[in-house]
Amino acid sequence: MNTNPSNIMALTSTTSNKKETVCIFGTGDFGRALGYKMIQSGYSVVFGSRQLQPSSLIPKDAEVLSHTEAAQKATIIIIAIPRQHYNFLIPLAEILHGKVLVDVSNNLKLNQYSQSNAEYLAQLIPGAKVVKAFNTVSAWALQSGALDASRQVFVCGDDEKAKQMVMDIVRAVGLTPLDRGSLLAAQEIENYPLQLFPMWKFPIFLSLGLTAFFFFYSLIRDVIYPYVYENQDFSFFIAISIPNRICPIVALSLLALVYLPGVLAAIIQLYRGTKYSRFPDWLDKWMLCRKQLGLVALAFAFLHVLYTFVIPIRYYVRWKLNSLILSQALNNRTDPFINTYSWLNDSYLALGILGFFLFVLLGITSLPSVSNSVNWREFRFVQSKLGYLTLILCTAHTLIYGERLFLNASSYRWYLPNACMLSLIVPCIVLVVKFVLVFPCLDKPLTQIRQGWERNPRHSEQSNYIINKSAV
Ligand code: NAP
Repeated sequence: MNTNPSNIMALTSTTSNKKETVCIFGTGDFGRALGYKMIQSGYSVVFGSRQLQPSSLIPKDAEVLSHTEAAQKATIIIIAIPRQHYNFLIPLAEILHGKVLVDVSNNLKLNQYSQSNAEYLAQLIPGAKVVKAFNTVSAWALQSGALDASRQVFVCGDDEKAKQMVMDIVRAVGLTPLDRGSLLAAQEIENYPLQLFPMWKFPIFLSLGLTAFFFFYSLIRDVIYPYVYENQDFSFFIAISIPNRICPIVALSLLALVYLPGVLAAIIQLYRGTKYSRFPDWLDKWMLCRKQLGLVALAFAFLHVLYTFVIPIRYYVRWKLNSLILSQALNNRTDPFINTYSWLNDSYLALGILGFFLFVLLGITSLPSVSNSVNWREFRFVQSKLGYLTLILCTAHTLIYGERLFLNASSYRWYLPNACMLSLIVPCIVLVVKFVLVFPCLDKPLTQIRQGWERNPRHSEQSNYIINKSAV
């Protein structure tokens, strides 16, 4: 929750500022959409335009005047015009003196200009108070009211009062302002809508890499090997059998990779004897995208469940089962019931079901609407304790499935072990190291370190020195 006192202060002034006249330069898509929304919220809107004949698209309660006339009617002027046309404002510099100019513009590329659009505007009209806002909201979302996913409006500017006035408008139209500081932040705010899933890149590329690796690995073992040695065509495995092998492998590997950075961080902290020393950049970045890694893992687990449902209706499976029954009938032979096998099979299925259930629970609690309704301790309990339990259940599910493969020489084709054996490497490492870290002789110092204790206080003096020096 944003507890910025300036926001609270502005909230109280919202009602008194209503019905104020706001000017919008530009009657394009964004200007019109914002105008509609502001009129609905009780503002009176005047458009500054080159076309003085109002079109049917312009809200009927709004006035359309020349730029000069419109600017004289309001203190706040929203510039809903692309940056490349800002030059037309130069002759209006005198009228715009002392006014609050709201820059809503976006660019087509990241860091397209060396100077942000808002700073450029401030440089063109030095007498105006420029505030950057609204660029993260689309005209379509404003007009259709589909603002659930993008209620946040980043606001920045050098003049506090002007910023507060703009934040009042943001609130009045039903959005949430987020104060990002001075106009220096404008470049970052302008880059924000241009970023394409920045936190998802690593998890998606990693999962695609793992999928490709295990696909070719399984293709060699399960399709090419039988073709070469037994002259059997199992190419149809590509449709269901191989994907149903890859999905659980990738899901388990990614789930283990969610917990691996935490274990590495604990080892680093124990080794350094302090938490006041930065982790390497790659570890920081890895930790920041753990939620996305977990959600991609859940998607793969979900696919595995779907593929598993169709197993009984597959032609190949039905044919194999019928052949087995027929051969037993012809040979007048029945396989004995082996209790151990039924225990192993049922445990394997039960662990899979429970593991998937907890996996879904983890996914649900990572949704912002759910995670916002639990406190930090509850969130940590679910993501850490239940998360490790999920990893244990899923690893055990795979271990029981692969149990008969480990010691069976025929499961090593061209010296390649079954793919599910490979998928167990990272989860087993994570679980073993975590198990070791739980021992009191390591857990106690680690807890102390995380509470601020340092093994070598000289280090803190040194870091304080560095911090103080950089502050100077
Ligand atoms: P648009 O539909 O192309 O409208 C731009 C408006 O600028 C025109 O309707 C025109 O208004 C005015 N204009 C064009 N050339 C001009 C010139 N040479 N001199 C003076 N005025 C001129 O663009 P838009 O989609 O509304 O976008 C406007 C701004 O909002 C852009 O900076 C954009 O980055 C930003 N924005 C847009 C969205 C969105 O979803 N569309 C979202 C966030 C931010 P008049 O004909 O009335 O003069």
